[in-house]
Amino acid sequence: MSKTPEPPALTLLTNGVREDAMTNGADPEPMSRDWNYHPDLPLADSSVFRWPPEPRFLARWLVRNWLMLSERVVMVLLAVTCWSLFYPSLDTARTFAFGWVFQVWLVNMGLMVVIAGGLHWYFYLRRGQGKALKFDRRDQARSNRLWEFSNQVYDNMFWSLGSGVVQLTLYQAVIMWMMANGYAPTIALASNPVLFVAGLVLLPIWSAFHFYWAHRLLHIPFIYKHVHSVHHRNVNIGPWSGLSMHPVEHSIYLSSLLIHCVVPSHPIHLFFHVIYLGPGAAMTHAGYEDLLIKDRRRLALGTFYHQLHHRFYECNYGNQEMPWDRWFGTFHDGSEDGTKATRARKKRMHSNI
Ligand SMILES: [Zn+2]
Ligand SMILES: [Zn+2]
Repeated sequence: MSKTPEPPALTLLTNGVREDAMTNGADPEPMSRDWNYHPDLPLADSSVFRWPPEPRFLARWLVRNWLMLSERVVMVLLAVTCWSLFYPSLDTARTFAFGWVFQVWLVNMGLMVVIAGGLHWYFYLRRGQGKALKFDRRDQARSNRLWEFSNQVYDNMFWSLGSGVVQLTLYQAVIMWMMANGYAPTIALASNPVLFVAGLVLLPIWSAFHFYWAHRLLHIPFIYKHVHSVHHRNVNIGPWSGLSMHPVEHSIYLSSLLIHCVVPSHPIHLFFHVIYLGPGAAMTHAGYEDLLIKDRRRLALGTFYHQLHHRFYECNYGNQEMPWDRWFGTFHDGSEDGTKATRARKKRMHSNI
């Protein structure tokens, strides 16, 4: 795939954004109406559950996600590295002590700073690929009192590190302690290699299922207003936006990890899941569709699917791999009709408050 040039305007969507397009005195209309880049629209159905099943599509999905350099492969490699080198062992986790919990927190802080910070540095400070494959035209907001410290990136770092990484660590530490003491079921890699691999493949699917329903809950108007709106101030998202949430949202979002209390898993599964939910959110919110290396797409990052959610709110609560949005009528395919339907839903949902 060749490099996407600097914009000519790709006007396929009018938008419902009420945000801060009016910054430099220029006419905001064309700026706020266009995307800098979007994939071919309407979005195709890339759910692994689409019916009837197509073996070739499923095989391609497996290869793309698991047999090439992908977000998932990167995260599993990170999980294995952290398991063998950086996180404390389950033996250590048998009794609660400040030392090893602090160690887990330190590793999680390091992962978050390196991944979110690295992506932010590459895309937004070094401008490593300019605006190629960047969905939104705008840069991250500054000098705007909507944000803590009047700065979107500082604000996002504050919520991500101050609450996100802390809660991620607490969930992880409690589950490690449960695994170490036999309160959570575990499997050994040597005796269960098939289950081990299946667990890695299935975890993101479980997480997408959990994310859809937790996210529907967060969009109940009262909860949205007091909790989820913290995340949604990010209409124009960047890597630090991914885990930037209200503390109540963190505890709901991260409860996906509780699956390890009931389904037998290996600590590597837990660590993969932790990385998937924490630093992984920085990858999916990068604001760019792919990382380009020498003009070739080398690593998939954000999806237009979730970008539409950040712009139009009441659509695309899940992700592309699960069919929930399609089944429950909340799918926005990027077309004008999708925008109209989403606006009508938003009006209905918020008319009583
Ligand atoms: Zn988001
Ligand atoms: Zn939302």
